[in-house]
Amino acid sequence: MKIGNMLEDYVQSKEPPTRSAALLAESAKRLKIPRDHLKEIVKPYTVYIQRLPVGIAGKVCNIISGIVLHNRARGPYKGGIRIAANVDLWETTELARLMTLKTALANVELGGGKSGISVDLRALYRLMLNEKRFNGTFREFERMAKYDIMDEFTDHFGWLFAKHVYIPAPDMGSSGPEMVRIYNVTRDPASVTGKPDGIEGWMPGRKEATGYGVYYATLKHMERLGRAPDCCTVALQGFGNVGSHAAAFLHEAGVKVIAVTDMTGGAYDPAGLDIPALMKHCEKAGCVDGFKAKPMTNERLFRLKCDYLIPAARGHVIHDRNAGGVRCKVLVEAANMPVTYDGMKILEGNGIDLIPDTYANAGGLIVSNLEYRQALGGAKYSREQALAYIRERFDDMYASMGPALKRGRTMAEASTDVSLQRVHQTMLQRSLL
Ligand code: NAD
Repeated sequence: MKIGNMLEDYVQSKEPPTRSAALLAESAKRLKIPRDHLKEIVKPYTVYIQRLPVGIAGKVCNIISGIVLHNRARGPYKGGIRIAANVDLWETTELARLMTLKTALANVELGGGKSGISVDLRALYRLMLNEKRFNGTFREFERMAKYDIMDEFTDHFGWLFAKHVYIPAPDMGSSGPEMVRIYNVTRDPASVTGKPDGIEGWMPGRKEATGYGVYYATLKHMERLGRAPDCCTVALQGFGNVGSHAAAFLHEAGVKVIAVTDMTGGAYDPAGLDIPALMKHCEKAGCVDGFKAKPMTNERLFRLKCDYLIPAARGHVIHDRNAGGVRCKVLVEAANMPVTYDGMKILEGNGIDLIPDTYANAGGLIVSNLEYRQALGGAKYSREQALAYIRERFDDMYASMGPALKRGRTMAEASTDVSLQRVHQTMLQRSLL
C-alpha cells in the first residue's frame, strides 16, 4: 500500500513551469529587473530532503519530508508545514517562493520558506486496521500519527527552528497541536508560530487570522463596488482552518454562504447555509459530509452562479480545463495558488476578478509576525490588537498596489510588482545580487 511519495517521486528532476515564476518573469520585464537578478530571486537558497523513519503503532514508516528555504533577504525564513499525500519538492518550492512574495507584500520583516511532509494518512490508517495494529477511529489515528511524525521531523530540523533560521507555522494538514511538538523540543516561544492558546508565546487571534484576512479582503472588495454584504453570495471550497473561519466571519457580516464543500462532500442552500450549525457539525463529525442540506460536489461548486467563489483547500484546483466553466464574479484565493497560471488567464478573459493569495490569505502570516515579535520582546497582544493589525496591513497592502492598479494591472500583477520590487531592492542593499 502506498503511503506517500518515494524519494524519486518527491524530488523529480526539474522544476516544472510554475505560476509564481511566470508572474515574476512578467513583473521583472515591467520593472526592468535584469534577468540574472530575477534568476537569483526565483531560485531557493537551501533545500533539505529528509527521510523520517517514524514509529507509528509499532511499525516503522519511512516518510519523505523536505524544507525549502527560499529567500531571507528581508528576515528569517517563514512558512507553514504541509502534511499531505502528494506533496513534492517543487510544490514545496513554489509555496516557499509564494511566502517570499507574501511577506514582502505585507511588508513584514520575514522571508519565505515552506515544509512538505508526504504521507497519506488515510491509506496508512487502512493499513494499520488491516494489520490489526490499531482499532480506533481515523481521527484518533491521525492525531497520534501526526505527533509521531512531528517529533521525528523536529528531531532532524529542530536546530533550524531553535536558531530562528526558519520559523514554521501551520499549513494544510497541520495546526496548533503539531506546533506544540516543536515547542516541546525547542522550549522557545519564538521558534514556531501558530501555537495554541495557553502555550508560552501564543497569540490570541492567530487561529482565525487567515480566515479573518480572507473575510476582510472580500468585504473591502464589496465596499469598493458599493455592494451590501447581505446582497452578496459566496461559494466556498474547504472547511478547515481557513475556510471555516472565513465562512463564519462572512456569515456574521450578513453574507449568504450558499455552498461549502470539503474532501468528503458538500452542502448547498441557495438561501444561505447556517454556518454556526455547520461548524458545530464539523466539530463533531470532523467533516462536512452528513450535514443536513442539499448535497454539493466540488465540480458543481466551481460552476455555481455566485458573487464570490472562495477556494480554501488545495492548490491548482482551477485550471485550463475547468476555468471556462467558473461562473462567479470574483474569485478570492484563500488557498495558496488554487488557480493555475493558465486558469488565471481564462478567468481574466471572462471578466472574472481575481483577488490573489499573496494578499487574500496573508492574515495568518501577519499575525504570525506579531506572535514572533511578541515572543522576542515579551509584550502581550490581545485578539482585538491582532485583528486590527490584520486590517491595518491589508489596507497598507492594497494602498501599495494602488499605482499599478491605476495603470490597469490586475491585482495578481500589481501584488507581484510590489513584492518583487521590495525583495530586489533589499537584496541589492545587502549585496546579495
Ligand atoms: P486544513 O487542513 O485545516 O483544511 C483543508 C480543508 O480542505 C479541509 O476541509 C479538507 O477537507 C479540504 N480539502 C482538502 N482536499 C480537498 C479536495 N481535494 N477537495 C475539496 N476539499 C478538500 O487546511 P487550512 O490550514 O485551512 O489550509 C487551506 C489552504 O489555505 C491551503 O492551501 C493552505 O496552504 C492555505 N493557507 C493556510 C494558512 C493557515 O494559516 N492555515 C495560511 C495561508 C494559506
